[in-house]
Amino acid sequence: MKTANWNPWHGCKKISEGCRYCYVYRQDSRYNPEIQSSEVRKTSSFDLPLKRKRDKSFKLESGTLVFTCFTSDFFVDEADNWRTEAWKIIKERSDLIFYIFTKRIDRFNVSLPPDWGDGYENVIIGCTIENQQRANYRIPIFRELPIRHKTIICAPLLERVELREWLDKSIEKVAASGESGNEARICDYEWVLDIREQCINADIPFCFHQTGAKFLKDGKLYRIIRKYQISQAKKAGIDYRINHPG
Ligand code: SF4
Repeated sequence: MKTANWNPWHGCKKISEGCRYCYVYRQDSRYNPEIQSSEVRKTSSFDLPLKRKRDKSFKLESGTLVFTCFTSDFFVDEADNWRTEAWKIIKERSDLIFYIFTKRIDRFNVSLPPDWGDGYENVIIGCTIENQQRANYRIPIFRELPIRHKTIICAPLLERVELREWLDKSIEKVAASGESGNEARICDYEWVLDIREQCINADIPFCFHQTGAKFLKDGKLYRIIRKYQISQAKKAGIDYRINHPG
């Protein structure tokens, strides 16, 4: 499956523990130090899914999995007005699959299109949790929302989390990841294996997406550089029923 990134706005406000070393802030301070990462602004890619090539075909090919708003949060309040327009674009490109991660699932209904109904078929929402407290708050809200495709994203995983009570067929996948960056907090492989076991018991697909920069395994702390964090997680070979890149 082809993949693409669409960042209709950039910048975000930190709202929970998982945001402490947010990669958007890290990337901005490294590559665009003049940017204030906490300021949310529309980007020049706002209408990327509607852009066409010279031959009039769409730049984003039909069937592409589009990682949406990964340099912000799709539900950040500064984007409430822009989101109305973004939903229209998502509806218009119903031949693409839009994958949206959020730490603001409690704002999901703000600016939701009137024709949303039970959800657009081409939208996957990933509810991000980093610890038990955030899971306890966000997942019950998430479960009640009219969304056709729901995933739970445990990232950056900061402690052991108990998800069992929410793992049923309404959840299509659970993913776990450690934290990246120089200041990353430790990700313990035991926590990852524990989530995996919970998923297997509920027969829900599980993906170990990346190790993070500080990975604890069998009592030993490994420092893993960015370019190997995904491949090392794959090497563990612990994914369960995963057959697509999302
Ligand atoms: S919600 Fe996501 S993008 Fe926004 S500050 Fe937190 S980690 Fe960064």
